[in-house]
Amino acid sequence: MPLDDFARYPLLFGPSPVHPLDRLTAHLGGARIWAKREDCNSGLAYGGNKTRKLEYLLADALATGADTLVSIGGIQSNHTRQVAAVAARAGLKAVLVQESWVDWPDPVNDKVGNILLSRILGADVRLVEDCFGIGFKESWQRALDDVRAAGGVPYAIPAGASDHRLGGLGFANWAYEVERQERELGVFFDTIVVCSVTGSTQAGMIAGFAGQDRPRRVLGIDASAKIDETRAQVEKIARNTAELIGLGRDLRADEITVREGWAGDLYGIPVESTVDAIRLTAQLEGMIIDPVYEGKSMAALIDLVRDGSIPPDSNVLYAHLGGQPALNAYSSVFG
Ligand SMILES: *Cc1c(COP(=O)(O)O)cnc(C)c1O
Repeated sequence: MPLDDFARYPLLFGPSPVHPLDRLTAHLGGARIWAKREDCNSGLAYGGNKTRKLEYLLADALATGADTLVSIGGIQSNHTRQVAAVAARAGLKAVLVQESWVDWPDPVNDKVGNILLSRILGADVRLVEDCFGIGFKESWQRALDDVRAAGGVPYAIPAGASDHRLGGLGFANWAYEVERQERELGVFFDTIVVCSVTGSTQAGMIAGFAGQDRPRRVLGIDASAKIDETRAQVEKIARNTAELIGLGRDLRADEITVREGWAGDLYGIPVESTVDAIRLTAQLEGMIIDPVYEGKSMAALIDLVRDGSIPPDSNVLYAHLGGQPALNAYSSVFG
């Protein structure tokens, strides 16, 4: 079915802004760098990439008669915060299972940033201590059961809204939005740089761009420190999404690129290149990026432009996917 025929509940201001990063471009002395800003795509609790994906999942939730969105993430999950905001906007309830995915010692980790916002937004925030194995499955199942036991109708949204039939649609739509913005700006972005963890952001882009005439590179940068899992997830969701929107051909292996090298050893823990990228972007452009995701994809962009892997005549589009609220739990990194 064509992408335009899927039900979508509008949550964004409109197309997210695209603008050049001229001082960063001059500093690196190579390709021309632009940003497309999912961090200011919506008026809902600071927006972000999950809000765009949720336009399709929310329409589905309402169509199935759900009254409660149930989702899961780490303590400082941007995703669960966006689920809380979207639920509020649509007049639904939200139950959020928050796990200790990241061993991060900040004393206010479970009090500030994303989790604070989710509480303000009225979500039922459930902290789960036991992070690996059985604990997670049980708390997830219990959250769904609790909603049913109270007479509610839950709608289950997986981590990052990714491993879901409709998870890739939001960024397939983004790909067409980029094409329209290129026409207005008179520019062609031959290279897209995007952070990948649960995978449906990059996967959706791949599926969307695959239906367009001009080929381009979508460089996914792993921030999970589990490259094989990330790659497998992106590939699976890209193929499913391409089929769902009727691409009419198989995706080629060269359309799916996920690169490692900037995640450090662990998801959620910034390394030196992450912190350098955050400072550089802030001090040259006034643009804020986070230590979990965007700092890692920006570190990659910086290296790939510097070493010429992205050639000097390229126009690069950096997908800024949001995530700044988590910075509040990382103050010691910059103190
Ligand atoms: C979730 C998230 C990502 C990763 O997107 P996936 O679709 O999970 O691959 C990147 N950046 C930010 C800020 C995010 O919140």
